[in-house]
Amino acid sequence: MEAFRKAVETVQVRAGAPCLIDSEWQGGGDRPLLDVIAPHSEELLLQYREATHEDVDRAVAAARRAFDHGPWPRMEPAERSAALKRVARLLSERLPELAEVWTGQVGAVIGFTRKASGQVPGLFDFYADMIQDYPFVEQRTRSSGSAVRVVSEPVGVCAAITPWNAPLVLLCYKVAAGLAAGCTFVVKPSPETPIDAHILADCIIQAGLPAGVFNMVTGGRAIGDYLVRHPGVDKVSFTGSTVAGKAIAGACAERLTRFSLELGGKSAALILDDADLSSVLPSLVPYSMPITGQVCFSLTRVLVPASRYDEVLDGYVDAVRKVRLGDPFDDQTQMGPLTLKRQRDRVESYVAIGQKEGARLVTGGGRPAEHNRGWYFEPTVFADVTPEMTIAQEEIFGPVVSFLRYDDEASLVEQANATSYGLHGAIYSVDPERAFSLARRIRSGSIALNGMAVDIEMPFGGFKQSGIGREGGREGLENYLEIKSVYMA
Ligand code: NAD
Repeated sequence: MEAFRKAVETVQVRAGAPCLIDSEWQGGGDRPLLDVIAPHSEELLLQYREATHEDVDRAVAAARRAFDHGPWPRMEPAERSAALKRVARLLSERLPELAEVWTGQVGAVIGFTRKASGQVPGLFDFYADMIQDYPFVEQRTRSSGSAVRVVSEPVGVCAAITPWNAPLVLLCYKVAAGLAAGCTFVVKPSPETPIDAHILADCIIQAGLPAGVFNMVTGGRAIGDYLVRHPGVDKVSFTGSTVAGKAIAGACAERLTRFSLELGGKSAALILDDADLSSVLPSLVPYSMPITGQVCFSLTRVLVPASRYDEVLDGYVDAVRKVRLGDPFDDQTQMGPLTLKRQRDRVESYVAIGQKEGARLVTGGGRPAEHNRGWYFEPTVFADVTPEMTIAQEEIFGPVVSFLRYDDEASLVEQANATSYGLHGAIYSVDPERAFSLARRIRSGSIALNGMAVDIEMPFGGFKQSGIGREGGREGLENYLEIKSVYMA
Protein backbone atom coordinates (compact mmCIF):
# COMPACT_ATOMS: atom_id res chain seq x y z
CA MET A 1 0.00 0.00 0.00
CA GLU A 2 2.93 2.34 0.73
CA ALA A 3 4.29 2.06 -2.82
CA PHE A 4 0.82 2.81 -4.16
CA ARG A 5 0.52 5.95 -2.01
CA LYS A 6 3.93 7.15 -3.24
CA ALA A 7 2.92 6.57 -6.86
CA VAL A 8 -0.28 8.56 -6.31
CA GLU A 9 1.76 11.42 -4.80
CA THR A 10 4.09 11.48 -7.82
CA VAL A 11 1.15 11.89 -10.18
CA GLN A 12 -0.46 14.47 -7.84
CA VAL A 13 2.70 16.59 -8.08
CA ARG A 14 2.34 16.49 -11.87
CA ALA A 15 -1.43 17.03 -11.77
CA GLY A 16 -1.25 20.56 -13.19
CA ALA A 17 1.19 19.57 -15.95
CA PRO A 18 0.18 15.99 -16.66
CA CYS A 19 1.31 15.49 -20.26
CA LEU A 20 4.71 14.16 -21.22
CA ILE A 21 5.92 15.94 -24.34
CA ASP A 22 9.55 15.79 -25.51
CA SER A 23 10.49 14.23 -22.13
CA GLU A 24 9.07 17.21 -20.15
CA TRP A 25 5.95 17.21 -17.95
CA GLN A 26 3.78 20.04 -19.19
CA GLY A 27 0.35 21.04 -20.53
CA GLY A 28 -3.05 20.82 -18.92
CA GLY A 29 -3.90 24.54 -19.14
CA ASP A 30 -7.18 25.28 -17.41
CA ARG A 31 -8.94 22.13 -18.59
CA PRO A 32 -11.32 20.38 -16.14
CA LEU A 33 -9.94 18.12 -13.44
CA LEU A 34 -10.27 14.34 -13.83
CA ASP A 35 -10.86 12.18 -10.74
CA VAL A 36 -9.20 8.90 -9.79
CA ILE A 37 -11.28 7.02 -7.20
CA ALA A 38 -10.21 3.94 -5.23
CA PRO A 39 -12.72 1.22 -6.17
CA HIS A 40 -12.54 -0.61 -2.84
CA SER A 41 -12.96 2.43 -0.58
CA GLU A 42 -14.51 5.11 -2.84
CA GLU A 43 -11.73 7.45 -1.66
CA LEU A 44 -10.87 10.29 -4.05
CA LEU A 45 -7.21 9.46 -4.68
CA LEU A 46 -6.21 12.10 -7.12
CA GLN A 47 -7.35 14.93 -9.36
CA TYR A 48 -5.38 15.94 -12.43
CA ARG A 49 -5.86 18.05 -15.54
CA GLU A 50 -7.06 16.83 -18.88
CA ALA A 51 -4.92 17.69 -21.93
CA THR A 52 -5.91 20.54 -24.24
CA HIS A 53 -6.05 20.21 -28.02
CA GLU A 54 -2.83 22.25 -28.14
CA ASP A 55 -1.17 19.69 -25.85
CA VAL A 56 -2.16 16.92 -28.26
CA ASP A 57 -0.85 18.99 -31.20
CA ARG A 58 2.49 19.46 -29.43
CA ALA A 59 2.71 15.81 -28.39
CA VAL A 60 2.05 14.64 -31.96
CA ALA A 61 4.57 17.22 -33.29
CA ALA A 62 7.19 15.88 -30.85
CA ALA A 63 6.54 12.27 -31.92
CA ARG A 64 6.59 13.40 -35.57
CA ARG A 65 9.99 15.12 -35.18
CA ALA A 66 11.39 12.09 -33.35
CA PHE A 67 10.18 9.84 -36.15
CA ASP A 68 11.00 12.01 -39.18
CA HIS A 69 14.34 13.41 -38.03
CA GLY A 70 15.40 11.63 -34.82
CA PRO A 71 17.73 8.69 -34.36
CA TRP A 72 15.19 6.14 -33.03
CA PRO A 73 13.76 4.69 -36.29
CA ARG A 74 17.22 4.78 -37.90
CA MET A 75 19.11 2.95 -35.17
CA GLU A 76 20.44 -0.53 -35.74
CA PRO A 77 17.99 -3.00 -34.18
CA ALA A 78 20.71 -4.06 -31.72
CA GLU A 79 20.94 -0.50 -30.40
CA ARG A 80 17.15 -0.15 -30.03
CA SER A 81 17.12 -3.56 -28.40
CA ALA A 82 19.68 -2.46 -25.81
CA ALA A 83 17.57 0.62 -24.97
CA LEU A 84 14.43 -1.52 -24.56
CA LYS A 85 16.36 -3.92 -22.34
CA ARG A 86 17.21 -0.95 -20.10
CA VAL A 87 13.50 -0.08 -19.91
CA ALA A 88 12.71 -3.72 -19.02
CA ARG A 89 15.32 -3.73 -16.25
CA LEU A 90 14.02 -0.48 -14.75
CA LEU A 91 10.44 -1.77 -14.85
CA SER A 92 11.53 -5.04 -13.23
CA GLU A 93 13.02 -3.11 -10.35
CA ARG A 94 9.60 -1.52 -9.76
CA LEU A 95 7.50 -4.68 -9.97
CA PRO A 96 6.09 -4.49 -6.41
CA GLU A 97 5.00 -0.91 -7.13
CA LEU A 98 3.43 -1.89 -10.46
CA ALA A 99 1.38 -4.58 -8.72
CA GLU A 100 0.20 -2.23 -5.98
CA VAL A 101 -0.76 0.50 -8.43
CA TRP A 102 -2.77 -1.98 -10.52
CA THR A 103 -4.54 -3.17 -7.38
CA GLY A 104 -5.14 0.33 -6.00
CA GLN A 105 -6.56 1.81 -9.21
CA VAL A 106 -8.48 -1.18 -10.58
CA GLY A 107 -9.36 -3.27 -7.51
CA ALA A 108 -7.69 -6.38 -8.99
CA VAL A 109 -6.49 -8.58 -6.13
CA ILE A 110 -2.85 -8.28 -5.14
CA GLY A 111 -2.17 -12.02 -5.50
CA PHE A 112 -3.10 -11.70 -9.18
CA THR A 113 -1.39 -8.38 -9.92
CA ARG A 114 1.89 -9.55 -8.36
CA LYS A 115 1.99 -12.42 -10.85
CA ALA A 116 0.59 -10.61 -13.87
CA SER A 117 2.71 -7.44 -13.57
CA GLY A 118 5.69 -9.46 -14.76
CA GLN A 119 4.24 -9.13 -18.26
CA VAL A 120 5.14 -5.42 -18.24
CA PRO A 121 8.95 -5.80 -18.25
CA GLY A 122 8.42 -9.16 -20.00
CA LEU A 123 7.00 -7.46 -23.09
CA PHE A 124 10.00 -5.11 -23.37
CA ASP A 125 12.42 -8.02 -22.99
CA PHE A 126 10.51 -10.14 -25.46
CA TYR A 127 10.47 -7.56 -28.25
CA ALA A 128 14.03 -6.43 -27.49
CA ASP A 129 15.14 -10.05 -28.08
CA MET A 130 12.96 -10.48 -31.17
CA ILE A 131 14.41 -7.55 -33.11
CA GLN A 132 17.97 -8.75 -32.67
CA ASP A 133 17.48 -11.28 -35.46
CA TYR A 134 14.19 -10.22 -37.09
CA PRO A 135 14.52 -10.17 -40.91
CA PHE A 136 13.89 -6.43 -41.37
CA VAL A 137 15.53 -6.78 -44.81
CA GLU A 138 14.71 -9.98 -46.65
CA GLN A 139 16.33 -10.83 -49.97
CA ARG A 140 14.00 -12.52 -52.48
CA THR A 141 14.56 -13.56 -56.08
CA ARG A 142 12.04 -12.92 -58.85
CA SER A 143 11.28 -15.68 -61.37
CA SER A 144 13.26 -13.57 -63.87
CA GLY A 145 16.27 -14.05 -61.62
CA SER A 146 16.66 -10.47 -60.40
CA ALA A 147 16.75 -9.61 -56.71
CA VAL A 148 14.18 -7.80 -54.61
CA ARG A 149 14.74 -6.66 -51.05
CA VAL A 150 11.55 -6.73 -49.02
CA VAL A 151 12.07 -4.25 -46.25
CA SER A 152 9.97 -3.97 -43.07
CA GLU A 153 9.92 -0.38 -41.89
CA PRO A 154 8.29 1.24 -38.85
CA VAL A 155 4.78 2.46 -39.61
CA GLY A 156 5.45 5.90 -38.09
CA VAL A 157 3.85 7.97 -35.33
CA CYS A 158 1.45 5.78 -33.36
CA ALA A 159 -1.42 6.80 -31.11
CA ALA A 160 -2.05 4.19 -28.40
CA ILE A 161 -5.36 4.32 -26.53
CA THR A 162 -6.07 1.92 -23.68
CA PRO A 163 -8.81 0.96 -21.17
CA TRP A 164 -8.84 0.76 -17.37
CA ASN A 165 -8.86 -2.94 -16.50
CA ALA A 166 -5.23 -3.90 -17.06
CA PRO A 167 -3.89 -0.44 -17.79
CA LEU A 168 -0.14 -0.92 -18.03
CA VAL A 169 -0.02 -4.44 -19.47
CA LEU A 170 -2.32 -3.40 -22.32
CA LEU A 171 -0.32 -0.24 -22.95
CA CYS A 172 2.95 -2.17 -23.01
CA TYR A 173 1.66 -4.68 -25.59
CA LYS A 174 1.53 -1.67 -27.89
CA VAL A 175 4.48 0.44 -26.78
CA ALA A 176 7.04 -2.38 -26.42
CA ALA A 177 6.24 -3.82 -29.86
CA GLY A 178 5.94 -0.43 -31.58
CA LEU A 179 9.15 0.97 -30.10
CA ALA A 180 10.96 -2.22 -31.09
CA ALA A 181 9.74 -1.67 -34.65
CA GLY A 182 11.15 1.89 -34.58
CA CYS A 183 7.88 3.80 -34.18
CA THR A 184 7.28 6.80 -31.93
CA PHE A 185 4.24 7.21 -29.69
CA VAL A 186 1.59 9.47 -28.26
CA VAL A 187 -0.27 7.42 -25.67
CA LYS A 188 -3.57 8.20 -24.02
CA PRO A 189 -4.27 5.94 -21.07
CA SER A 190 -7.72 5.58 -19.60
CA PRO A 191 -8.69 8.71 -17.60
CA GLU A 192 -9.73 6.58 -14.59
CA THR A 193 -6.46 4.66 -14.23
CA PRO A 194 -3.58 6.88 -15.36
CA ILE A 195 -1.07 6.21 -12.57
CA ASP A 196 1.03 3.31 -13.82
CA ALA A 197 1.59 4.97 -17.21
CA HIS A 198 3.67 7.53 -15.25
CA ILE A 199 5.93 4.71 -14.02
CA LEU A 200 6.43 3.57 -17.61
CA ALA A 201 7.15 7.16 -18.69
CA ASP A 202 9.73 7.57 -15.91
CA CYS A 203 11.47 4.31 -16.87
CA ILE A 204 11.58 5.29 -20.55
CA ILE A 205 13.13 8.67 -19.71
CA GLN A 206 15.58 7.07 -17.28
CA ALA A 207 16.57 4.48 -19.88
CA GLY A 208 17.68 7.36 -22.13
CA LEU A 209 15.32 6.96 -25.09
CA PRO A 210 15.49 10.10 -27.25
CA ALA A 211 13.06 12.93 -26.41
CA GLY A 212 9.82 12.76 -28.38
CA VAL A 213 9.88 8.97 -28.85
CA PHE A 214 7.33 8.42 -26.07
CA ASN A 215 4.74 11.12 -25.31
CA MET A 216 1.62 10.96 -23.19
CA VAL A 217 -1.59 12.98 -23.06
CA THR A 218 -4.46 12.81 -20.57
CA GLY A 219 -8.19 12.72 -21.09
CA GLY A 220 -11.21 10.71 -22.09
CA ARG A 221 -13.19 10.05 -25.24
CA ALA A 222 -13.07 13.61 -26.66
CA ILE A 223 -9.29 13.92 -26.41
CA GLY A 224 -8.97 10.37 -27.74
CA ASP A 225 -11.10 11.30 -30.73
CA TYR A 226 -9.00 14.43 -31.37
CA LEU A 227 -5.81 12.33 -31.23
CA VAL A 228 -7.16 9.63 -33.55
CA ARG A 229 -8.12 12.23 -36.18
CA HIS A 230 -4.82 14.08 -35.96
CA PRO A 231 -3.14 14.39 -39.37
CA GLY A 232 0.26 13.76 -37.77
CA VAL A 233 -0.70 10.25 -36.64
CA ASP A 234 0.16 7.34 -38.96
CA LYS A 235 -1.35 4.50 -36.95
CA VAL A 236 -3.89 4.08 -34.15
CA SER A 237 -3.62 1.14 -31.83
CA PHE A 238 -6.71 0.82 -29.65
CA THR A 239 -7.84 -1.50 -26.87
CA GLY A 240 -11.30 -1.00 -25.46
CA SER A 241 -14.97 -1.49 -26.19
CA THR A 242 -16.34 -2.53 -29.56
CA VAL A 243 -18.50 0.60 -29.65
CA ALA A 244 -15.46 2.88 -29.34
CA GLY A 245 -13.50 0.64 -31.73
CA LYS A 246 -16.08 1.17 -34.45
CA ALA A 247 -15.99 4.94 -33.93
CA ILE A 248 -12.19 4.88 -34.16
CA ALA A 249 -12.21 2.69 -37.28
CA GLY A 250 -14.60 5.20 -38.88
CA ALA A 251 -12.39 8.15 -37.96
CA CYS A 252 -9.28 6.37 -39.28
CA ALA A 253 -11.04 5.51 -42.54
CA GLU A 254 -11.28 9.21 -43.44
CA ARG A 255 -7.48 9.49 -43.81
CA LEU A 256 -6.74 5.78 -44.21
CA THR A 257 -4.74 5.97 -41.01
CA ARG A 258 -3.61 2.44 -40.16
CA PHE A 259 -5.38 0.95 -37.19
CA SER A 260 -5.50 -2.16 -35.05
CA LEU A 261 -8.26 -2.88 -32.58
CA GLU A 262 -8.42 -5.15 -29.51
CA LEU A 263 -12.08 -5.11 -28.52
CA GLY A 264 -14.66 -6.88 -26.42
CA GLY A 265 -15.51 -10.55 -26.08
CA LYS A 266 -18.17 -13.04 -25.04
CA SER A 267 -15.92 -16.05 -24.84
CA ALA A 268 -17.26 -19.55 -24.31
CA ALA A 269 -16.02 -22.46 -22.23
CA LEU A 270 -16.97 -25.64 -24.09
CA ILE A 271 -17.30 -28.55 -21.69
CA LEU A 272 -17.26 -31.81 -23.65
CA ASP A 273 -19.08 -34.90 -22.41
CA ASP A 274 -15.79 -36.59 -21.46
CA ALA A 275 -14.38 -33.63 -19.47
CA ASP A 276 -12.91 -34.32 -16.05
CA LEU A 277 -14.76 -31.94 -13.74
CA SER A 278 -12.04 -31.98 -11.09
CA SER A 279 -9.65 -30.41 -13.58
CA VAL A 280 -12.26 -28.13 -15.22
CA LEU A 281 -13.26 -26.18 -12.14
CA PRO A 282 -9.83 -24.97 -10.96
CA SER A 283 -9.34 -23.12 -14.25
CA LEU A 284 -12.93 -22.28 -15.13
CA VAL A 285 -13.73 -20.53 -11.86
CA PRO A 286 -10.88 -17.97 -11.91
CA TYR A 287 -10.94 -17.44 -15.68
CA SER A 288 -14.65 -16.90 -15.96
CA MET A 289 -14.33 -13.92 -13.61
CA PRO A 290 -10.72 -12.62 -13.63
CA ILE A 291 -10.42 -9.08 -12.23
CA THR A 292 -14.05 -9.36 -11.10
CA GLY A 293 -15.01 -10.35 -14.65
CA GLN A 294 -13.47 -7.23 -16.16
CA VAL A 295 -11.16 -8.94 -18.63
CA CYS A 296 -11.90 -9.12 -22.34
CA PHE A 297 -11.13 -12.86 -22.54
CA SER A 298 -13.26 -13.89 -19.52
CA LEU A 299 -15.08 -17.19 -20.14
CA THR A 300 -18.54 -15.78 -19.57
CA ARG A 301 -20.59 -18.44 -21.37
CA VAL A 302 -20.33 -22.03 -20.20
CA LEU A 303 -21.69 -24.57 -22.69
CA VAL A 304 -22.50 -27.90 -21.04
CA PRO A 305 -23.90 -31.16 -22.47
CA ALA A 306 -27.49 -31.67 -21.33
CA SER A 307 -26.46 -35.03 -19.84
CA ARG A 308 -23.99 -33.35 -17.44
CA TYR A 309 -25.66 -29.96 -16.99
CA ASP A 310 -26.67 -30.23 -13.33
CA GLU A 311 -23.38 -31.84 -12.28
CA VAL A 312 -21.23 -29.09 -13.87
CA LEU A 313 -23.53 -26.25 -12.79
CA ASP A 314 -23.65 -27.48 -9.17
CA GLY A 315 -19.88 -27.93 -9.01
CA TYR A 316 -19.26 -24.47 -10.46
CA VAL A 317 -21.82 -22.71 -8.26
CA ASP A 318 -20.38 -24.43 -5.20
CA ALA A 319 -16.90 -23.15 -6.05
CA VAL A 320 -18.12 -19.63 -6.88
CA ARG A 321 -19.95 -19.35 -3.55
CA LYS A 322 -16.62 -19.98 -1.79
CA VAL A 323 -14.83 -17.10 -3.57
CA ARG A 324 -13.62 -14.66 -0.90
CA LEU A 325 -14.58 -11.05 -1.65
CA GLY A 326 -12.77 -8.27 0.13
CA ASP A 327 -9.96 -5.74 0.29
CA PRO A 328 -7.92 -6.30 -2.88
CA PHE A 329 -4.70 -5.50 -0.97
CA ASP A 330 -5.33 -8.47 1.37
CA ASP A 331 -3.43 -11.58 0.26
CA GLN A 332 -6.38 -13.79 1.20
CA THR A 333 -8.88 -11.97 -1.02
CA GLN A 334 -9.87 -13.75 -4.23
CA MET A 335 -12.17 -11.13 -5.74
CA GLY A 336 -12.08 -7.36 -5.37
CA PRO A 337 -14.64 -4.73 -6.32
CA LEU A 338 -15.61 -3.61 -9.79
CA THR A 339 -13.38 -0.75 -10.92
CA LEU A 340 -15.95 1.97 -11.50
CA LYS A 341 -19.31 2.92 -10.09
CA ARG A 342 -20.70 3.12 -13.63
CA GLN A 343 -19.46 -0.41 -14.21
CA ARG A 344 -21.43 -1.67 -11.21
CA ASP A 345 -24.52 0.14 -12.54
CA ARG A 346 -23.97 -1.60 -15.87
CA VAL A 347 -23.61 -5.05 -14.28
CA GLU A 348 -26.76 -4.49 -12.22
CA SER A 349 -28.69 -3.54 -15.32
CA TYR A 350 -27.64 -6.78 -17.08
CA VAL A 351 -28.68 -8.87 -14.08
CA ALA A 352 -32.13 -7.26 -14.28
CA ILE A 353 -32.29 -7.95 -18.04
CA GLY A 354 -31.28 -11.60 -17.48
CA GLN A 355 -34.09 -12.09 -14.99
CA LYS A 356 -36.60 -10.29 -17.17
CA GLU A 357 -35.76 -12.47 -20.17
CA GLY A 358 -36.28 -15.65 -18.14
CA ALA A 359 -32.80 -16.83 -17.17
CA ARG A 360 -32.60 -18.53 -13.76
CA LEU A 361 -30.47 -16.65 -11.21
CA VAL A 362 -28.69 -19.40 -9.26
CA THR A 363 -26.35 -17.37 -7.09
CA GLY A 364 -25.32 -13.75 -6.54
CA GLY A 365 -27.01 -10.95 -8.43
CA GLY A 366 -26.57 -8.13 -5.94
CA ARG A 367 -24.25 -6.07 -3.76
CA PRO A 368 -22.74 -8.11 -0.92
CA ALA A 369 -24.21 -7.01 2.42
CA GLU A 370 -20.82 -7.11 4.18
CA HIS A 371 -19.23 -4.55 1.81
CA ASN A 372 -21.15 -1.30 1.94
CA ARG A 373 -18.21 0.79 0.69
CA GLY A 374 -16.59 0.21 -2.68
CA TRP A 375 -18.07 -1.03 -5.93
CA TYR A 376 -18.44 -4.65 -4.83
CA PHE A 377 -20.73 -7.09 -6.59
CA GLU A 378 -21.44 -10.73 -5.86
CA PRO A 379 -20.19 -13.42 -8.25
CA THR A 380 -23.32 -14.21 -10.20
CA VAL A 381 -24.40 -17.30 -12.12
CA PHE A 382 -27.37 -17.62 -14.44
CA ALA A 383 -28.65 -21.03 -15.58
CA ASP A 384 -31.10 -21.98 -18.34
CA VAL A 385 -29.68 -19.24 -20.54
CA THR A 386 -30.48 -19.56 -24.24
CA PRO A 387 -28.26 -18.22 -27.03
CA GLU A 388 -30.53 -15.35 -28.08
CA MET A 389 -30.81 -13.84 -24.57
CA THR A 390 -29.10 -10.48 -24.08
CA ILE A 391 -26.84 -11.84 -21.33
CA ALA A 392 -25.59 -14.53 -23.76
CA GLN A 393 -24.98 -11.98 -26.51
CA GLU A 394 -23.58 -8.81 -24.95
CA GLU A 395 -20.36 -8.23 -23.05
CA ILE A 396 -21.26 -7.43 -19.44
CA PHE A 397 -17.69 -6.94 -18.14
CA GLY A 398 -18.45 -8.05 -14.60
CA PRO A 399 -18.68 -11.26 -12.54
CA VAL A 400 -21.71 -12.67 -14.34
CA VAL A 401 -21.57 -16.09 -15.99
CA SER A 402 -24.25 -17.76 -18.12
CA PHE A 403 -24.75 -21.53 -18.33
CA LEU A 404 -26.16 -22.85 -21.62
CA ARG A 405 -27.12 -26.40 -22.57
CA TYR A 406 -26.34 -28.34 -25.77
CA ASP A 407 -27.40 -31.71 -27.15
CA ASP A 408 -24.76 -32.62 -29.72
CA GLU A 409 -21.53 -31.34 -31.23
CA ALA A 410 -23.28 -29.51 -34.06
CA SER A 411 -25.39 -27.48 -31.64
CA LEU A 412 -22.31 -26.88 -29.47
CA VAL A 413 -20.41 -25.33 -32.38
CA GLU A 414 -23.44 -23.31 -33.44
CA GLN A 415 -23.96 -21.90 -29.95
CA ALA A 416 -20.27 -21.21 -29.38
CA ASN A 417 -20.18 -19.14 -32.59
CA ALA A 418 -23.55 -17.48 -32.06
CA THR A 419 -22.37 -14.04 -30.92
CA SER A 420 -20.92 -11.09 -32.80
CA TYR A 421 -17.67 -11.53 -30.85
CA GLY A 422 -14.76 -13.92 -31.43
CA LEU A 423 -11.96 -13.21 -28.99
CA HIS A 424 -11.12 -16.30 -26.97
CA GLY A 425 -12.51 -19.61 -25.72
CA ALA A 426 -11.68 -22.79 -23.86
CA ILE A 427 -12.40 -26.46 -24.52
CA TYR A 428 -12.36 -29.07 -21.79
CA SER A 429 -11.95 -32.72 -22.79
CA VAL A 430 -9.71 -35.64 -21.86
CA ASP A 431 -9.01 -36.12 -25.59
CA PRO A 432 -6.69 -33.32 -26.82
CA GLU A 433 -7.03 -34.24 -30.53
CA ARG A 434 -10.84 -34.19 -30.30
CA ALA A 435 -10.58 -30.79 -28.58
CA PHE A 436 -8.14 -29.53 -31.23
CA SER A 437 -10.40 -30.48 -34.13
CA LEU A 438 -13.27 -28.72 -32.38
CA ALA A 439 -11.07 -25.65 -31.79
CA ARG A 440 -10.67 -25.36 -35.57
CA ARG A 441 -14.43 -24.87 -35.87
CA ILE A 442 -14.66 -22.03 -33.35
CA ARG A 443 -14.47 -18.52 -34.81
CA SER A 444 -12.18 -16.88 -32.27
CA GLY A 445 -8.63 -15.54 -32.14
CA SER A 446 -7.45 -17.94 -29.44
CA ILE A 447 -8.64 -21.03 -27.64
CA ALA A 448 -7.13 -22.80 -24.63
CA LEU A 449 -7.48 -26.56 -24.24
CA ASN A 450 -8.03 -27.86 -20.70
CA GLY A 451 -6.87 -24.75 -18.95
CA MET A 452 -6.22 -21.14 -19.50
CA ALA A 453 -3.43 -19.61 -21.48
CA VAL A 454 -2.85 -16.15 -22.82
CA ASP A 455 0.83 -15.60 -23.33
CA ILE A 456 2.67 -12.43 -24.44
CA GLU A 457 4.77 -14.60 -26.77
CA MET A 458 1.69 -15.73 -28.74
CA PRO A 459 -0.58 -13.66 -31.01
CA PHE A 460 -3.78 -12.48 -29.33
CA GLY A 461 -6.74 -10.73 -30.93
CA GLY A 462 -10.21 -11.03 -32.26
CA PHE A 463 -12.22 -12.56 -35.05
CA LYS A 464 -15.45 -10.76 -35.99
CA GLN A 465 -16.33 -7.75 -33.79
CA SER A 466 -13.62 -8.56 -31.24
CA GLY A 467 -11.06 -6.67 -33.26
CA ILE A 468 -8.67 -6.36 -36.15
CA GLY A 469 -4.99 -7.27 -35.93
CA ARG A 470 -2.98 -9.16 -33.33
CA GLU A 471 -0.89 -8.17 -30.34
CA GLY A 472 1.77 -10.31 -28.71
CA GLY A 473 4.09 -12.72 -30.49
CA ARG A 474 5.82 -11.97 -33.77
CA GLU A 475 2.50 -10.72 -35.16
CA GLY A 476 2.51 -8.02 -32.47
CA LEU A 477 5.73 -6.58 -33.89
CA GLU A 478 4.40 -6.81 -37.44
CA ASN A 479 1.43 -4.68 -36.36
CA TYR A 480 3.88 -1.76 -36.36
CA LEU A 481 5.67 -2.46 -39.65
CA GLU A 482 5.03 -1.36 -43.23
CA ILE A 483 6.37 -3.46 -46.09
CA LYS A 484 8.45 -1.94 -48.88
CA SER A 485 9.70 -3.87 -51.92
CA VAL A 486 12.95 -2.55 -53.36
CA TYR A 487 13.66 -3.89 -56.87
CA MET A 488 17.41 -4.21 -57.18
CA ALA A 489 17.66 -4.78 -60.92
P1 NAD B 1 -13.81 2.27 -23.78
O1 NAD B 1 -13.89 1.81 -25.16
O2 NAD B 1 -14.92 3.07 -23.24
O3 NAD B 1 -12.50 3.16 -23.56
C1 NAD B 1 -11.21 2.69 -23.85
C2 NAD B 1 -10.29 3.86 -24.09
O4 NAD B 1 -10.70 4.53 -25.28
C3 NAD B 1 -10.29 4.93 -23.01
O5 NAD B 1 -8.98 5.45 -22.91
C4 NAD B 1 -11.26 5.98 -23.56
O6 NAD B 1 -11.00 7.27 -23.05
C5 NAD B 1 -10.97 5.91 -25.06
N1 NAD B 1 -12.08 6.21 -25.97
C6 NAD B 1 -13.39 5.90 -25.82
N2 NAD B 1 -14.08 6.29 -26.92
C7 NAD B 1 -13.18 6.80 -27.79
C8 NAD B 1 -13.27 7.38 -29.10
N3 NAD B 1 -14.44 7.46 -29.75
N4 NAD B 1 -12.14 7.82 -29.69
C9 NAD B 1 -10.95 7.71 -29.07
N5 NAD B 1 -10.80 7.22 -27.81
C10 NAD B 1 -11.90 6.76 -27.18
O7 NAD B 1 -13.55 0.96 -22.93
P2 NAD B 1 -13.38 0.81 -21.36
O8 NAD B 1 -14.73 0.91 -20.74
O9 NAD B 1 -12.29 1.71 -20.88
O10 NAD B 1 -12.82 -0.70 -21.28
C11 NAD B 1 -13.63 -1.82 -21.33
C12 NAD B 1 -13.64 -2.44 -22.72
O11 NAD B 1 -12.33 -2.76 -23.15
C13 NAD B 1 -14.37 -3.77 -22.74
O12 NAD B 1 -15.25 -3.80 -23.83
C14 NAD B 1 -13.28 -4.80 -22.92
O13 NAD B 1 -13.65 -5.99 -23.53
C15 NAD B 1 -12.29 -4.05 -23.73
N6 NAD B 1 -10.96 -4.67 -23.60
C16 NAD B 1 -10.46 -5.38 -24.66
C17 NAD B 1 -9.22 -6.01 -24.54
C18 NAD B 1 -8.63 -6.81 -25.67
O14 NAD B 1 -7.43 -7.04 -25.66
N7 NAD B 1 -9.38 -7.27 -26.64
C19 NAD B 1 -8.52 -5.90 -23.35
C20 NAD B 1 -9.08 -5.19 -22.29
C21 NAD B 1 -10.31 -4.56 -22.45
